[in-house]
Amino acid sequence: MLPSDASGHLATTDFLVIGGGVIGLCLALNLKRHYRDCTVTLIEKEESCGRHASGRNSGVLHAGFYYGPDSWKARFTLEGNRALKAYCRERGIPINLTGKLVVARDEAELSGLHDLLKRGQANGVPLDLVTEEEARRIEPRVKTCGQALYSPETATVDPRRVVAAFAADAEAAGVVLRPSTAYLGRRKGTVLTTGGAIDAGHVVNAAGLYADAVARDFGFAQDHAILPFKGLYLHSSEPTGSLKTNVYPVPDPAYPFLGAHFTLGPEGGVTLGPTAVPALWREQYRGWAGFERGELRAVLRLGYRLWRSDPSGYTRLALTELRCCFRPYLVREAARLVDGVRAEHFRVWGEAGIRAQLVDTRTGRLEPDFHFEGDERSSHVLNAVSPAFTCALPFTAYLVDRIPGRGALPPDPVV
Ligand SMILES: Cc1cc2nc3c(=O)[nH]c(=O)nc-3n(C[C@H](O)[C@H](O)[C@H](O)COP(=O)(O)OP(=O)(O)OC[C@H]3O[C@@H](n4cnc5c(N)ncnc54)[C@H](O)[C@@H]3O)c2cc1C
Repeated sequence: MLPSDASGHLATTDFLVIGGGVIGLCLALNLKRHYRDCTVTLIEKEESCGRHASGRNSGVLHAGFYYGPDSWKARFTLEGNRALKAYCRERGIPINLTGKLVVARDEAELSGLHDLLKRGQANGVPLDLVTEEEARRIEPRVKTCGQALYSPETATVDPRRVVAAFAADAEAAGVVLRPSTAYLGRRKGTVLTTGGAIDAGHVVNAAGLYADAVARDFGFAQDHAILPFKGLYLHSSEPTGSLKTNVYPVPDPAYPFLGAHFTLGPEGGVTLGPTAVPALWREQYRGWAGFERGELRAVLRLGYRLWRSDPSGYTRLALTELRCCFRPYLVREAARLVDGVRAEHFRVWGEAGIRAQLVDTRTGRLEPDFHFEGDERSSHVLNAVSPAFTCALPFTAYLVDRIPGRGALPPDPVV
């Protein structure tokens, strides 16, 4: 017999969403709004939503000038930025309209700066190429070599407040939220969870760091695996207002990461980070907590393969980023972006976040864009890495149109 819910009945739902991060919550909400008479259930393994990437990110509403024009990231970032700002205003969630400067640390980086400008223009993103002097008027402490890019649309919010608002909206719309309920596996059409079995018409996988494992149970993600990359933050003890805008370096185009940078929180506090250090298991936040031997083996195996073939320059990335775990090195790197960076201001490590970076196991390439697979029975959102927080509203509205309607397939017979 399959396990059942507390009342002894097999729970049923039209749509079952796995994962209560911003992507799962927005998908559940959009599905419920789209198919009003359908039942939508969301299971989340933690006690509350947003305990992983969605609640542990920089809270930056990106503007959308990093991404190639044919990508989903380009398509949804600016729209997502505006939609999330409007949403926060509606919900009374503070937004810090920081803007952002991207600086060239030396002359060689100027061509990268101009490439970003071209990408921004192709994506319709408001962006100004400014002189060093103009950059200093925006941020008196900034250091740049001749020119910088200014993005007026970039802003920051508290991601936890956004997650909490999405969760409240989902519940108010009639989504059944089931925290402390982990997906365990599937048997035919029935999903097995720690809270009993659920007959689901359609399963929507938004399980973040575990999305590849869930997808494989349904026959998807056969050529992909998630490699976790940890983002460490250092909090500055300088007073609020010591920086006036976010300051980023020109990113290395070989990697889907932006390089350690300065961001201002919603109240103006300065943070340095995040790094992109390879993590040894998926939720390796601190010390040995949550150690998973099987995950360590899989990560080392995949890391070794990437190191051997190295199409993504993985070894260079790993070595550079590992140095960023050392506070003095990270602070020295940061001092190339702004004046007056002093080690004694950066003594406190913040809460780390971990990126669910997807790797194409055939080519060893780090996937640059969001990735979606599915059929009539299940849908899988993979590689929802940055800027998926910014993109969450329009990206999930778009995905709902790709998810077969009403979760209508009858469940397979239970065996
Ligand atoms: C360090 C860092 C900084 C970032 N900064 C930014 C930024 O400034 N701006 C931006 O736009 N984006 C940023 N991002 C990206 C952004 O945080 C993510 O793209 C976004 O949060 C992804 O949301 P998600 O719902 O897919 O994943 P998650 O938030 O990880 O949610 C997945 C959920 O699935 C649950 N789950 C997993 N397995 C199971 C299971 N078996 N059963 C039930 N539930 C399960 C997890 O507990 C989790 O709550 C950053 C990410 C990181 C890591």
